[in-house]
This record gives sequence, structure tokens and C-alpha cells, in this order.
Amino acid sequence: MSSTTPQHEPVAEQPTPDHPASPDSAGSELSAFVGRHIGPRDSDIAAMLETVGYDSLDALVDAAVPQGIRTQTALTLPAADSEPAAIAELREIAAQNTVVTSMIGLGYYGTHTPPVVRRNVLENPAWYTAYTPYQPEISQGRLEALLNFQTVVSDLTGLPTAGASLLDEGTAVAEAMTLMRRASKTAADAVLIVDEHLLPQSASVLATRARSLGIELVTGDLSDPEALAGGRAVFGAVVQYPGADGQIRDWTELAETIHAGGGLVTAAADLLALTLLRSPAEWGADVAVGTTQRLGVPMAFGGPHAGYMSVREGLERTLPGRLVGVSKDEAGAPAYRLALQTREQHIRREKATSNICTSQVLLAVMASMYAVWHGPEGLRRIGEQVHAKARYLHAALTAGGVEVVTTRFFDTLTVRADSAAVLAKALEGGVNLWAVDAEHVLLSTDESITTADLDVVLDAFGVSPVEAPEGSVWEEPFQRTSDYLTHPVFNTHRSETQMLRYIKSLGDKDFALDRGMIPLGSCTMKLNATTEMEAITWPEFAALHPFAPHDQTVGSRRIVEELSQWLAEITGYHSVSLQPNAGSQGEFAGLLAIRSYHLANGDDARTICLIPASAHGTNAASAVMAGLKVVVVKTAPDGGVDMDDLRTKIDKHRDELAAIMVTYPSTHGVYEETISELCELVHEAGGQVYVDGANLNAIMGLARPGDFGGDVSHLNLHKTFCIPHGGGGPGVGPVAVREHLTPHLPNHPLDALAGPESGVGPISAAPYGSAGILPISWAYVRLMGGAGLTRSAEVAVLNANYVATRLREHYPVLYAGETGLVAHECILDLRGLTKETGVTVDDVAKRLIDYGFHAPTMSFPVAGTLMVEPTESEDKGEVDRFIDAMIAIRAEMDDEASRVMLRNAPHTAVELAGEWEHPYDRMSAAFPSGPEAKYWPPVKRIDGAFGDRNLVCSCPPPEAFED
Ligand SMILES: *Cc1c(COP(=O)(O)O)cnc(C)c1O
Repeated sequence: MSSTTPQHEPVAEQPTPDHPASPDSAGSELSAFVGRHIGPRDSDIAAMLETVGYDSLDALVDAAVPQGIRTQTALTLPAADSEPAAIAELREIAAQNTVVTSMIGLGYYGTHTPPVVRRNVLENPAWYTAYTPYQPEISQGRLEALLNFQTVVSDLTGLPTAGASLLDEGTAVAEAMTLMRRASKTAADAVLIVDEHLLPQSASVLATRARSLGIELVTGDLSDPEALAGGRAVFGAVVQYPGADGQIRDWTELAETIHAGGGLVTAAADLLALTLLRSPAEWGADVAVGTTQRLGVPMAFGGPHAGYMSVREGLERTLPGRLVGVSKDEAGAPAYRLALQTREQHIRREKATSNICTSQVLLAVMASMYAVWHGPEGLRRIGEQVHAKARYLHAALTAGGVEVVTTRFFDTLTVRADSAAVLAKALEGGVNLWAVDAEHVLLSTDESITTADLDVVLDAFGVSPVEAPEGSVWEEPFQRTSDYLTHPVFNTHRSETQMLRYIKSLGDKDFALDRGMIPLGSCTMKLNATTEMEAITWPEFAALHPFAPHDQTVGSRRIVEELSQWLAEITGYHSVSLQPNAGSQGEFAGLLAIRSYHLANGDDARTICLIPASAHGTNAASAVMAGLKVVVVKTAPDGGVDMDDLRTKIDKHRDELAAIMVTYPSTHGVYEETISELCELVHEAGGQVYVDGANLNAIMGLARPGDFGGDVSHLNLHKTFCIPHGGGGPGVGPVAVREHLTPHLPNHPLDALAGPESGVGPISAAPYGSAGILPISWAYVRLMGGAGLTRSAEVAVLNANYVATRLREHYPVLYAGETGLVAHECILDLRGLTKETGVTVDDVAKRLIDYGFHAPTMSFPVAGTLMVEPTESEDKGEVDRFIDAMIAIRAEMDDEASRVMLRNAPHTAVELAGEWEHPYDRMSAAFPSGPEAKYWPPVKRIDGAFGDRNLVCSCPPPEAFED
């Protein structure tokens, strides 16, 4: 497209000094917003091009991106909107949704997000623009919030160790299945028995997962597990507690029976119910899973919300996802960091416990803050009120002669009635109920339901209110007697002033994009514009239940529809599913589509997935989940796929070849010339090509995976398409496919519009996954237009090459293409310098903290290196500041005293003010590049190994922080 579209003479809608208007064709016009999204000004771009040695962006991109894969036409997307116009359009779309009170339940409930949490966490860039806390010294705030989250989950479920969030309840149930399979010593053909009252979407997600792993599920009435299993060994049981029908059942005997046979028991439990209900641990569950949505996180048409998992003693080392633990820093002070599986998929690849990388940190932080704000009495009171509303309905319905099937309940009732008539009547009063079948209505109460709502419901059933009995309807053994949330953090912040300051004090400890550049290779930490974020908290998007009737969700479906079309256009594929709620889940969905396609063709033997050695760790873990066998292809000396090894492996596995999974441009930050040939070789052998699209930022508008040979890709909307990283989630990982794979995309049991009938089943709990944050990516595309997106990619490539060019004489750049150029990121090779000077990548990463930077990606994909991705959003000043810091650190490596300083980094204020015995001065330690942009780390370097040996994963007692 470079020939038809002038790329570097941008045209603004309103003339600005940088974007003078000129009479260009409409398709190539750059909107004013493009100049706000992109960091470098035009004059900077000219200067940077000169440094890199090209006289135009076109020339640079022509040299960097192989001609063979370049698209020749401009992206066909709607012309870019201004910010006010995009917001106006979103308002119109929002108005097409109808918000009514939801009493549908089924895992999604109304809740009041405390305004102090909404404004100061969800709408606060200090929280939403942070990265995953791999650098713990600059992440103590969100690590503390996550530790609070783990403590909430662990206390309420009674199980000692909880992880720092999973993707949703459905996938958490599926993760529990594989955990139980790993932990149980039962025979390989043992089955999983599943409660017939499991939430329907969880049961379907579980079935999708079980099918690809060859695990047999037996679903039914678990009151007689042996009869249900038909004499076969049982490795695990999953129950819903309380059941989807609302009934609370006693699972003590089930747990005893399953344990006696060597199996484990998982409870999918409602945390709010557990404020009043005996904890799963107390009746013998080994694992608890669920969602924390109703702890203050809006339903948002299905997500994002934080799923949870907690386990009994002895299982903590098999937990999927991330786990926060307490350790100590070099000064001996307590400090938090990710425990055990910090980069699990990268280390263990196909042996990883799960493929989860990005999870739901921001939502976990919100849920934890809800618990900090309300405390144990507050949560119990909310639980009691929710229960009292259900009792009120139960009493009136029963007194009115309506049969309530549920006898022992928390918030949910199954009622026998003409469901069509009752639903219609309730809707007239502005309330959604759920039809189980023609004769049964399901309804759930929640924190947000008012007396008026309850009376609408009674009226719909044709009964009158009566006085509800006090107390609860449960017998003794079901009552909760054990304490929870006794830690001071849940018993201190009661006034809003205190709460505000607590949230602020944690946010202040962290380094996020609101302070400076986060130059993370592979993660594209670009601008998350305020305009893009604005719509997500509007009630029209935030208050929708994912199973609300289609005619109430027209606006949200339009967002889904339009964004899918645009992503198909950008990638060159035929269709897109937005259901996967992280990149890893997109990978899983894409590989399932490939597997399902082969099976539909009778190609049962095609189970081998080729994966280059440099691949992101999730690739191998996802392949295993999809029932494929991983065969690794070597890396060539230039960083590309070793084509000879590829040919050998294809020949060897020709008849079993299912797919190759390649990242383009590769994780080495280079555009491989061989990509088209690679695709041809695999296709010729009958395999499918999976192009991991996490690096799409380098080719957006320049090349399309669907055109250069890909059959399927996932994208990361939380990288390329401006959904903020949230400190480690939420994410959206759409999967895009060519036409022949379209019938094999995910679908959903409760929403026929969410995918093809012939699909592989749901891979997320909600029909459209994290639908609530899609307006962010929608707005990004709308504001940038095709020319703006292309410009994004070009400037991203320029910024990376500018970094590579300026740093090359100080640090070797590990890989580059044939023209000496990198793609959108570059790898700085420190291995030689480490050998010479003893200074490690860790030392450099921690010293960068003193300079006021977040470290680049460390030791991925090559140990002993740093990977830098500046993105298009960083301006020249900030990029120069980073480069200058790196050059200064390089000089520090050459001096004995400074090397001590590097090893001792980062420096805390406390340390600098105290006794000083170091061979370097305080000023160089504290202000190596002057007082501007100074960031003060709250702790010194953290001892990860100590924390792993002495695993503590819930809030430590306050005494731990005494001197
Ligand atoms: C980030 C990334 C993934 C995984 O995405 P998540 O959303 O973290 O699951 C996969 N592949 C590549 C190349 C990535 O950079």
C-alpha cells in the first residue's frame, strides 16, 4: 500500500502544526487522534529516520518488511472519527441496549461497585495501565492487592492456598479437572463425575476441554457416585455449591466416597453464599473454584471478571495461573512477589500445568478492594440481605400456592410455573428471569435487587407479598460458624477517606504507564487512550447480563459484529470469534478448530504440532490442551526458523502433521523472509498454519497473515488494540480463521448467535468472553482508521529500529533481518558483557528502576538478554531518556565501584537516608539521571527463592512488618 498511500505527510481533520491539512484522498487521511496516539512528532520522525539511515517511513518499512508478504491495498475500514464523534457514536450504540434488572443469576449477579473503587481503581491509570508484576520491586501495590484477593478466597472457601485469579468460572472448573487428574493416583481411564446442577456454561466449557484431552465425563445425580460411575475408577468429582437450581446439598458423604477411591473433589462455590454457608473445606472439598464477579465487578455482558481457585494443603504447587507469595528483600523486609510459577509456561512449556498467562488482575484487585471496603461484617450483611430477599420471595410464592422446587437455598429459586407467561409479565415490570424449560422459572436475588423488583416478581407469578420468616432456612450443619477476613486490612478502611488513601498508597508503590515507558518486548504496552476507556463503565454496557434476551443487547452485539469485521479485514481472514478471554485461550480455540477440521476430514492421525524453539511458552501449553503432540523446530543462527530442520521434521511426521504454530514477526523481533515458504511446506504436507498474532503491531496495515499463508491466528487486543494490561489482565484473544475453519470456531450453549452450530463448544464461560471491554478496541480502530493503524505499525517499527541503532554500539543487538533492521522490538544481548563484567540482566533491570524505568522483558525468548519494544506511543524524548539510561548503565559496568552499585540496585529512600558504607555516592545511586521522573521503589531486590522455600500466600500478620 505504500505506493498508493502517502504515509508520512499526515493530514489532520483539524489542521495542527504537526498535521497540516492537505488535499489527500479520504482513505489516507490521518485523524487528529493519530497524532495523540502516536508519540513522535513529524519532526522527530524525520530525525529518527536520519539516525536509522532512511529518508522516509516508506523507505524504512519497504526495507524492513519482506516484499513478498506486503499488502498492496489500503485497509478497508470506516474513515477515522474524531474523539467527540466516536463517543457520540458509542452513545448511540449504547442506546440500542436495554438495561433491565437482571434476576437471571447463573453465575452473573447485579452488584454495587463501590464508587471509591470504580473511580480510583477501574478508572485510574495507575492501576489499569500497569504490567504483569514480573518485576516485583516496582509492583508491591498490586501484589499486596492480589494477596488480599488470595486471602479473601482462601478465607471464604476455607482452603489454605488461593491463586491470584483465573479467567472465569467455566475455565476455572476446567482447570480444576486437569489439576485433579494430575494430583489423583487413579488409573489412566478413570472418569470425572459431574454434578447435573453445575452451571450450564461451566458444564459445556468442561466438556470442550475434556474432549480434547480424552477425559471421560459422567454427568448426573451425585448422591450415589458409585452407581453413577458404573463401577469405574473416579479421579474427581465436581459439584456446584449451591447448585445451579439453587439447592444447597450436603456433599460430606460424596467427599468421603471419592477420597476413599483415590479421587479429589472440587466445589464450584459462590463466595457470597459462603459468607453464611459452611465452607467447602469443612465438608471435605480439595479444590474450590468460581467467580468473584459479584464482589463489586459489573456483569459487563459476560466479562471480564476474575475467576478463582483455592486448594487444600499439598496441592499448592500444582495451582494453574499465578500465585502471589510473601518473601523478603535484601534488607530483610517482607516483600511480595509472584511465587513458584513466575513464568511457568516459558519454563515448562508442554509440561506446564495450564496455558494461562494473562489472567484477570484488575478485576481481582477490584474484588479484593470490595472486601477491604466492606470487611467481614459488611460482606456478611450483604449475604444476609441477599438471602432475605430470596426468603421473602419463597414465603410469598409458597403462601400463594406456587410450587417452589428449591427447599434449601441461598439466593436462587427454581419455581414451577408457565415460564413464558411469567417471564413476559416480569419483563413488563423491568425484570429479567430465566426459563429453565416451559414449566420452570429460575430466579436469583442479589445486592442490587430492590423491594420494588421483588414485588414485580411476585406480581408476575400472581401472588401477594407476605411477611417473611426471620433467620435462614438451613439446618445446623449448613450454617457457617468459622471466621473469615480477620486480618486487619479487612477491618481498618471503613471511612471513604481511609479507603481512598489505602488505594492511593498501593497505587503509588507501582510503576505503570502513567509514570513512564514500559519497554516490554512481546507485550506492546502502548497508549490506552481515555476516550477508548470511557464507555466501559456506562451502565448500557456494564450492567448487561450475558444471557439477557437478544433484543436487549442489540448495541453490544453491534460492537461485537463491527469489531469482528474490522479484525477480519486487518488480518485477511474470513471470520473472527471474540470469545477467547486471553491470548492463550485464542490459541486453544484456534488449535481446536484445526484439530476439529482434520477430524471432520477423517484425518484422525494428524496430531503433531510443530513449534519453533523461540515460541512464546503458551503455544506449547495450548497445543497439549488441544490434544496435540509438540515437536520442536530449531532456531537458525539468524534467529529465524531453521528451514532444514523444518523440512526434516515435516518429512518425518508428514502423515501425522496437524499444524505448525509460528509467531510473525517472530519473538526474536525479526521479519523472516522465509514465512511464505514455510507456510507452503506445511500446507503441502497437509498441515495447517497457525500464525500467533500477538506481534500484529508490527504488520498492521502492512501485511496480513490470512494473505501470506496463515489458516488461523489469535490476536491480543490487550496488546495491539489498546485494552490496558490491567497489571496482568483482563485480556481479549480473538481467534481469526480462513473460511474452511469457520465451522470449527467456538460457540455457546446459551447463545445460538455466538458461534457456528457445528463449532467446537465454548472455551469461555460467556458467549462473547470479555465483551464489556470490547468498546476499547472498537474505539481504537474507529479513531485511527485504516491509515492510522498502518501509521501505528510504521512508527512502532521506526521506534524499535531507532533504539536498536542507537544502542547497537553499546549492546549487541542479537537478531536483525537481512537489511540489518529489526521489526517492532529488539533483543539486546548481554551475555558477553555478563561474562566480562559479572553484571547480569537482573542487575540492569533493577538499576533501570533507579533511573525511573520499568525493565524490558528479561531472558525471553533468549536467556541472558533484554527485549525492548518501545511501541508507537512513546515519544522521542522518552525513548531517548531510555536509551541514555541504558548507555549510562553500560558505562557503569566498566567501573568497579559502579558495579557494586548495579548489584545493589534498586536503592530505596530508607537505605539512602541511613548508614552508608558503599563505595559509591548516594547521589549517583538515587539520581543517576537527575531528579526528574524519579521513581522510589518501596523495597530492595527481592529474594524469590526464599519465598518459594517458605511459601506464604495470604496476608501476613502485621507483626511481620515490624522492625
Ligand atoms: C502475550 C503473548 C501470548 C499470550 O497471550 P496471553 O494473553 O498472555 O495469554 C502468546 N504469544 C505471544 C507471542 C505473546 O506475546
